[in-house]
Amino acid sequence: MKHPLRALAVLPFILVATPVAHSQSETGVVDSLKVTILSTMLADRGIGEWGFSALIEADGHRILFDTGARPKTVLQNATELGVDLTNVPELILSHNHGDHTGGLLSLRREIAKQASDALSRAHVGRGIFWARPPNRRWQAMSEVKTDYADLGGEFIEHDKPTQIHPGIWVTGPVPRIHVERNWGMGGKVGQVQTPAGPTEDNIPESMSLVIDTRQGLVVISGCGHAGIINTLEYARKSVRQAPIHAAVGGFHLLNATDSHLEWTASKLGEVGLRNFIGAHCTGIEAVYQIRALTGLGRKTAVVGAVGASFSLGDGIDPLMLAR
Ligand SMILES: [Zn+2]
Ligand SMILES: [Zn+2]
Repeated sequence: MKHPLRALAVLPFILVATPVAHSQSETGVVDSLKVTILSTMLADRGIGEWGFSALIEADGHRILFDTGARPKTVLQNATELGVDLTNVPELILSHNHGDHTGGLLSLRREIAKQASDALSRAHVGRGIFWARPPNRRWQAMSEVKTDYADLGGEFIEHDKPTQIHPGIWVTGPVPRIHVERNWGMGGKVGQVQTPAGPTEDNIPESMSLVIDTRQGLVVISGCGHAGIINTLEYARKSVRQAPIHAAVGGFHLLNATDSHLEWTASKLGEVGLRNFIGAHCTGIEAVYQIRALTGLGRKTAVVGAVGASFSLGDGIDPLMLAR
């Protein structure tokens, strides 16, 4: 008699344990989403610069993604575009480079005068604070961390994909499965001091934002140093095997050869890319080649401009020059 009883005693634990394996069904899905670019090179409203920033509005959550290069660009463009940053409590820094982090301290300093909680939490990927040789063009992130803390700001480090709000994810560092090497502009490759010792600086902290919507995943990228395909495949693996409804931001294809763009476009077909705003370092030629090679059109693949937006309802609004 002992054996059947034991079997019955075990059964409830199996039944209870089973749903835990389906944790993806517990994640949220975003119904309302708008992404508005606040810093990139092309601008027919506001100021253009070599940098990137965008405001994400998703089901009432307002998140700034990257902060532009110059201290005042995002502040001035937000004012000119009528974008209110006082009710944006948190932000994401995609990686350490100054064209994405340069506005952080001035934004916090200025906006906090009107709303003390605004821009007070910054999500970053593991590795962003690792030591690098001094850079003449921007402040080391270890110094930025101290200055941001002095302004009441707090960094939150991510070493894996994390859902920060229902349906809103940061990828954390992205595994480099495919060779999409795009760091070390001008042939100069830096070094980074990792806990395992010094190594080539491939910007290991590079992370993206993924929003899970009923139409599919929307991915926001800063500079794309992990590679567009590595990033989009990792988003699908980590969040949900859904089509990529939109990819918006900098994807660092400006140096890509024709054959690499052909490979990239075929992979973009595999992940079901439907809308593409190639801003910042994506490269203008790369955007148009990808448009042609993937079969996207003028309404679904454009060069990103300051003030351009993507929303779930209306798709891409490229403004004037990028139409
Ligand atoms: Zn960049
Ligand atoms: Zn970069």
